[in-house]
Amino acid sequence: MSGSTAVKIDARPCRQSCQAFSVEHIRKDFPILNTLVRGKPLVYLDNAATTQKPQAVIDAINHYYTAQNANVHRGVHHLSQVATCLYDDARQKIAAFLNATVECEIIFTRGTTESINLVAQSYGRQTIHEGDEIIISGMEHHSNIVPWQILCQQTGAKLRVIPFDDDGNLIMDEFDRMLNPRTKMVAVVHVSNALGTVNPIQEITAKAHAVGARVLVDGAQSTPHTAIDLKALDCDFFACSGHKMYGPTGIGILYGRAELLDAMPPYQSGGDMILSVTFDKTIYGRLPSKFEAGTPHIEGAIALGAAVDYLNAAGMETIHRHEQDLLQYATDAVETVPGLHIMGRAREKAGVLAFTMDAAHPHDVGQILDEEGVAVRAGHHCAQPVMQRFGVPATTRASFGMYNNRNDVDALVAALHKVNKVFA
Ligand code: PLP
Repeated sequence: MSGSTAVKIDARPCRQSCQAFSVEHIRKDFPILNTLVRGKPLVYLDNAATTQKPQAVIDAINHYYTAQNANVHRGVHHLSQVATCLYDDARQKIAAFLNATVECEIIFTRGTTESINLVAQSYGRQTIHEGDEIIISGMEHHSNIVPWQILCQQTGAKLRVIPFDDDGNLIMDEFDRMLNPRTKMVAVVHVSNALGTVNPIQEITAKAHAVGARVLVDGAQSTPHTAIDLKALDCDFFACSGHKMYGPTGIGILYGRAELLDAMPPYQSGGDMILSVTFDKTIYGRLPSKFEAGTPHIEGAIALGAAVDYLNAAGMETIHRHEQDLLQYATDAVETVPGLHIMGRAREKAGVLAFTMDAAHPHDVGQILDEEGVAVRAGHHCAQPVMQRFGVPATTRASFGMYNNRNDVDALVAALHKVNKVFA
């Protein structure tokens, strides 16, 4: 791997909680959950949009500005060295959390959206040409559609879309039929934010690699819910957002195989991404600096490291089990509400329960729920093709996080019965 700063990840952190998971204990770590909304306790079920932050993450940001603030990779003075160490430590924690091979494969970005744009414009413009094909799925978030559409306009490549069935499962036979030697990129979502479907990434990766295509996985909705093992997934790129995994907004991750990142041109340029600059020539920095031009979101990265520590302490397998239990409980419970139709009944699901109601438009449902202190999302969830597939303008979406409990689900269901009463 030429030119990379290759620090091998030796050991993975404990991903299984050492102590029993107690959702009540977890809830105490999230101060915002004590908020009253219109005099009622907040029931926060909009975790797919963004998650709330534990005190440890809030403290990390506070402590950074109280005692550690300086620019990174620039100063010889004490504070700059402290900030640089913390920033680099955060990268190492995240590399271990995702089971990357070397930590220079972890690039800090603003989030999933920027990560995907980076790959499309850097890797894509360099390697994808007229007549090549890019495959996405029909359940992508707009941020994994539009960057590829733009790349197709720029290069003359063709965008192809894997359809999904009425339950929200990808139709893998169609995918098999689409793959051919012209396929250069397969970009798929791991967990759909609109349906909750968990897609078979290992199978997709193996099939795409067999025709020589690269694979990008949009992990925005999987990273908070399940242990991610990049070595097992075997994808070439993986994108996720800090704010969906209990960390701050404005920070995210792009993982890329070191040999691919090494060969890619910079996405943005400026300070911190160079080895040397003259007016004749610039030599770019090594990984990961080459892709981190300018002063980065230092406290964001450090606080994302704190979020990863928090997730590791709870245990990703334990969080996954808890949320699966809650999803099952919630699915059974909302089915008692007359005139409610769940959208998305895939074989494997995570964290998301989307539905429509005969009685009211999703926005009206969302408003009545808000009056009861229940925060959900109503709309197209930045996945308009999914809405088009089902012929609806929007859905109401309850999405779960590690701190949600059965009381939250009961409050949701009681509020849904109220919707029916109001619109009877
Ligand atoms: N991909 C999926 C599946 C998402 O759910 C989201 C956000 O909701 C994104 C991508 C975009 O994430 P961000 O806005 O953090 O860049």
